[in-house]
Amino acid sequence: MNHAYTMPGAVSLAHIPWLSKEAKRRLAWFDYYRRCKNVSKTCRYFGIPRKTFYMWKKRYQPYRLESLEERSRRPKNTRRWQVSQIQELRIMTLRRAHIRYGKEKLKILYQEQYGEPVSSWKIQRVIEKHDLYYHPQRIHRQKARRRHNQARRRITELKRQGREGFLIALDGITMLRAGMRRYILTAIDVYSKIAFARMYQTKHSKHAADFLRRMHYLLEGKMENIQTDNGSEFAKHFRDAMENFHLPHYFSRPKTPTDNPFDERFNRTLKEEFIALGNYTTDCDIFNQKLTEWLVEYNFRRPHQSLGYSTPINFHYKHHRVLPMYPSSTLFDGVQEQLKRDHIVRSEIKEFAFTKFIFCGSCGSGVTAEEKYKKLKDGTISRYLYYGCTRSKNLHCKNGYIREEELIDQLVKVMDKIDINEIGMRHKFEEEVSRLMKFQKSFFADTKKLKPEKNIDLRSYAKYLLREGSVIEKRELLSCIKSKLILTQKVLTIEKK
Ligand SMILES: [Zn+2]
Repeated sequence: MNHAYTMPGAVSLAHIPWLSKEAKRRLAWFDYYRRCKNVSKTCRYFGIPRKTFYMWKKRYQPYRLESLEERSRRPKNTRRWQVSQIQELRIMTLRRAHIRYGKEKLKILYQEQYGEPVSSWKIQRVIEKHDLYYHPQRIHRQKARRRHNQARRRITELKRQGREGFLIALDGITMLRAGMRRYILTAIDVYSKIAFARMYQTKHSKHAADFLRRMHYLLEGKMENIQTDNGSEFAKHFRDAMENFHLPHYFSRPKTPTDNPFDERFNRTLKEEFIALGNYTTDCDIFNQKLTEWLVEYNFRRPHQSLGYSTPINFHYKHHRVLPMYPSSTLFDGVQEQLKRDHIVRSEIKEFAFTKFIFCGSCGSGVTAEEKYKKLKDGTISRYLYYGCTRSKNLHCKNGYIREEELIDQLVKVMDKIDINEIGMRHKFEEEVSRLMKFQKSFFADTKKLKPEKNIDLRSYAKYLLREGSVIEKRELLSCIKSKLILTQKVLTIEKK
């Protein structure tokens, strides 16, 4: 064959029928390169590594286009079938007589019986060739499984990236109590540690699919990769749901719990801090209701060691400046009661929530906070916060101090007086509360009926933030109030601007 006459202007030449698609692609590289004479530009243009380009440049012979074809990757020296006919027959006879003997044992038997050595590799080849298994079907199943597993993407192939939603790890807990089996599916965002869980009657892939759909709804589709183990519940319907959402599925290695440490840890917490405390019931509806309340606490309130004692939601907030979700006061009374007793989070905070937004009624200076520690009779140390005048405008201002708790009580009352539209956060509130509603609904309702709801009480939500919100939230709230807040002799008033 002679292609010399077409060679130079080779674009039209890319239609040569006997050249593979890949080879034609490579031909295009060299066409481009021949015109621009610039390797970097060519590589950039086609998005290929320089290494690849140089490798093919070395191979490429312009008058022999086959040189652009992929060479066989088969090893140059492969073992060939070296078993003689007599050996083959002897091995078959031996294996049939001792179907449970492995190749090593048969090797010894062979030597004894025929007085000559044979390699165990040859025995293996004969067994495979003639399907001489005790359980032929079982072996075939096993082989099919191995082939299938090789096609699965292993979690070790995924390069971790530190952003929310990048990797969601799923797992399940099987509960067997009082002769009743129940299955709890759990999921955790590996980066932010936001966690979800839900109980199902059985370990069925249609339930795992339901769980996935709920999470997709809850995270507003912000899921990039999913990790599961090789369990049967993560096949079939679950796989279909994954394909629907175009989510890549990564698998943990079998019997390697360290591949999914975060969800394992969450499962342990769930068992220790929820199930072990008497919250278990085989009634899925009741269990899931309680579980949701616990999850709200876990995600919103519980400080996480791995997040530097931040809560997943605050962590999320700090690092992304995205609107967090909060429980509103009317919805989680029970949770809140417990939280009032929990001072761990508050005592860690060095910032003060209400300074800079309140002014002294006597002299017009700002209001600042002071920390006081008091040792109680039982030996514990209690921290008090007092707010008072900075005296920047009048050094001798006699306006008194007020305890933070009292100030909050007064602020809550102020919330009743102000026009709620005055709070510039209205839109923001609505968004937050609707996300919370979503959070709840996704755990209670049927997946098909899931719809965001806007049933929001802004006033009670603002009060909730004042009492239970983080310092950032409180400041944000006060900064949004357009009227001036004035503190005179322990009494807080508002002054319209
Ligand atoms: Zn003052």
